[in-house]
Amino acid sequence: AVEILGMHKWYGEFNVLRDINLRVMSGERIVIAGPSGSGKSTLIRCINRLETHQKGQIIVNDVELTNDLKRIDEVRREVGMVFQHFNLFPHLTILENCTLAPMWVRGIPKAKAEETAMHFLKRVKIPEQAKKYPGQLSGGQQQRAAIARSLCMNPKIMLFDEPTSALDPEMIKEVLDTMVTLAQEGMTMLCVTHEMGFAKQVADRVVFMDGGQIVEQNEPEAFFSNPRHPRTKEFLSQIL
Ligand code: ATP
Ligand code: MG
Repeated sequence: AVEILGMHKWYGEFNVLRDINLRVMSGERIVIAGPSGSGKSTLIRCINRLETHQKGQIIVNDVELTNDLKRIDEVRREVGMVFQHFNLFPHLTILENCTLAPMWVRGIPKAKAEETAMHFLKRVKIPEQAKKYPGQLSGGQQQRAAIARSLCMNPKIMLFDEPTSALDPEMIKEVLDTMVTLAQEGMTMLCVTHEMGFAKQVADRVVFMDGGQIVEQNEPEAFFSNPRHPRTKEFLSQIL
């Protein structure tokens, strides 16, 4: 579903991503870990072209990401993204947040869009919050609303960038539970997260980044019990 080949990205002179090679099959769940500044967010953002790369290839659902805007729109419709800071529209209710893109991007009638929205708000266990505004919800509820909003576009791939790191501990679990359910249902997922319990539970592979490179990738079991690269060992000794 996602194929990245010899990909590089520069910010000016700074080679932020270097020779990234990553293949994610449909239904695979990938956790991306690594120290701050290693390029995790930049990598995730390149996959739906919130950032552009300068060398190599990124192919998402058989579409190569180039400057062809029409094709990028196609890709974006199939790739959902959830950020650390929910990015809900504050002046719209939760329900309106969920129906906006389906109605305006997909042309789905309002009644149908609302039905779908309620379906996903039930799935993330906040149907009773539908008529409220984001500011009236807890952080965990807002993040689940953001996940529901993404799901309303019926994505084939979900990208998560530290979805729990802005949350209080008691709210982390409810968001992780939502993500675990999604994973168990077979969603293709790439998740940047420091939640190593989540990685152990659902990841097919853990990808470890350092200094803009993928230093090591392995199944969680092997990744945690037998890290090979010194940088991975150092990282794990700090967080486990
Ligand atoms: P964190 O764990 O702190 O979120 P990260 O692994 O997500 O870190 P990135 O946000 O991808 O790291 O940043 C990678 C590097 O690129 C960092 O050195 C950062 O300073 C740099 N960087 C990020 N965005 C820009 C930008 N718009 N312009 C220039 N440099 C940037
Ligand atoms: Mg980041």
